[in-house]
Amino acid sequence: MKIREGDLVVVIAGEDKGPSPRRVVQVLDGGKKIRVEGVHQVKKHVRRGHPKSPQGGQLEIDLPIDSSNVLFYCGHCARGVRLGVKYTDDGGKVRVCKKCETSVGTVGGRKANRPAAVSG
Ligand SMILES: [Zn+2]
Repeated sequence: MKIREGDLVVVIAGEDKGPSPRRVVQVLDGGKKIRVEGVHQVKKHVRRGHPKSPQGGQLEIDLPIDSSNVLFYCGHCARGVRLGVKYTDDGGKVRVCKKCETSVGTVGGRKANRPAAVSG
């Protein structure tokens, strides 16, 4: 999956599905699960002294959802789209919207600093 933290996505399945773009707050499990702002929210009851709620009470948290339940939101198309990968002239990889082919950022980068093979 090519969804990353900070991306805008459209939720296409489940209780919170809808056409409006929402922000991904966390990517978990190697991209299989994601947390999306305001999606799959539950109220957790906490006692006083909790770091996020010093007075205690109810805390609203976003539970992770499966990343297959969302589509990447393309600002250019103004809708949820599927992502593809393209190679650039300098050998890099970029994520592209499959509809309008607009680049939405580079992919990976893990192999960028790999040392060249030693010959001889
Ligand atoms: Zn697009």
